[in-house]
Amino acid sequence: MNTSPLRVIVIGAGLGGLALAQGLRRDGIEVTVYERDTSPTSRTQGYRLRMNPDGLAALEQLLPQHLNQLVSATCSIQPPSAYFDARLDPIPSTDPGRGHDGGRNVAVNRLTLRQILLAGLGDVVSFGRECTGYKTNPDGTVTAVFRDGSHATGDVLVAADGVNSPVRHQYLPHARVMDTGVRTIYGRFPLTEETVAAIPERLFTLYSGVLGPDHRHLGLAPVQYRPPVHEAVAELGGAVEFTDTEDYMMCLFSAPAELLPLSDDELHSASGTQLRDVVVAQTRDWSPHIGTILEMWDPATVFPLTIRSSVPIAPWQTSTVTLLGDAAHAMSPAVGVGANTALRDAALLATQLGKAARGAELVPTVHDYETAMIDYGFRAVRTSAKFGQQRMGQAPLPADAP
Ligand SMILES: Cc1cc2nc3c(=O)[nH]c(=O)nc-3n(C[C@H](O)[C@H](O)[C@H](O)COP(=O)(O)OP(=O)(O)OC[C@H]3O[C@@H](n4cnc5c(N)ncnc54)[C@H](O)[C@@H]3O)c2cc1C
Repeated sequence: MNTSPLRVIVIGAGLGGLALAQGLRRDGIEVTVYERDTSPTSRTQGYRLRMNPDGLAALEQLLPQHLNQLVSATCSIQPPSAYFDARLDPIPSTDPGRGHDGGRNVAVNRLTLRQILLAGLGDVVSFGRECTGYKTNPDGTVTAVFRDGSHATGDVLVAADGVNSPVRHQYLPHARVMDTGVRTIYGRFPLTEETVAAIPERLFTLYSGVLGPDHRHLGLAPVQYRPPVHEAVAELGGAVEFTDTEDYMMCLFSAPAELLPLSDDELHSASGTQLRDVVVAQTRDWSPHIGTILEMWDPATVFPLTIRSSVPIAPWQTSTVTLLGDAAHAMSPAVGVGANTALRDAALLATQLGKAARGAELVPTVHDYETAMIDYGFRAVRTSAKFGQQRMGQAPLPADAP
């Protein structure tokens, strides 16, 4: 039995890495998170996230009570998701995510959630530290190596560094990430009295999907704070300073790459206005309401995304290097469960590392985490791929994927 305190190194201060750090910290376990970005706001990471019971239960477990109260106070609750044809006539929905909501149709602003997850971790998160790989040491410890030439050594290394994880590349070089063939143009616009009045009321649901011809897809999802955020924060003791507190409508357009007039290079160098013009042209024959909505799209918020998915792999031999979230099981956003699955991983791994910190053998506790995570994580990848194929024309997973 190892009696020295457990030291955990986490690479990546995204939702999964921060949630894990919160849980470990709460359990009194030594943890340091190394993040490539120079600050939490140095890069736009996206806008709205739909939450499901797995994600909410994970936050409940990992965060102290006052931060969970802030999550509740700053979430947006909407009627269930709905789907429409290009004329905006309702069509029956088979959204596989709906059944998981348990009646709670909850969305959050990603930056707001990230700011909550960062609360109290000032001495735990080290920004501007890009991990390039790791090495294992004869005494069983693991050393993360950073681009600036620095190192950090711990008993366990957790890769929470997203879809391009350098740790995964080194640890599981056979694990592949595929281009699904779908391109998304993603943005938002403020919800004011004027813009709300211009949008048909039936589009104010958790996620309204407008299914156009040839797998073109327009998605709308409001984020509407119930009490103004500053009031919620003041009431809860001013624990977190939020920087993005206006109500808004997330608006995205997805299509198979070959239907778009721009190559990938052109897409990624286009301005927000050019991207918006592409979407306006792609939806010209749709309901006139769509044209009105796209006119409200703020070009400064619009950016392109290549939608990728991990390809499931067979379980690997457990060691003191492990993965969570997109680093392990990146998935199409078609069902909206990637972040929730990352939070679920964080909760389970925090529980397992808690056992190791109290004297259980480290590798078997990590093995139990990986056995469960590989099962539900890759199941979510497969469900997301199937739904993305039906709704967005995404390429299927390779037939030989386990
Ligand atoms: C358009 C879209 C909509 C989505 N909507 C939803 C939704 O509604 N609900 C949902 O559950 N999921 C959704 N997702 C999925 C969700 O965004 C991801 O699954 C989630 O962000 C994964 O969290 P993570 O912590 O694993 O990784 P990330 O959020 O990607 O965080 C990884 C972190 O690691 C850092 N990093 C990367 N490389 C290094 C390095 N070398 N060294 C140090 N740090 C590094 C990054 O800067 C980042 O901060 C959506 C995705 C997309 C694209």
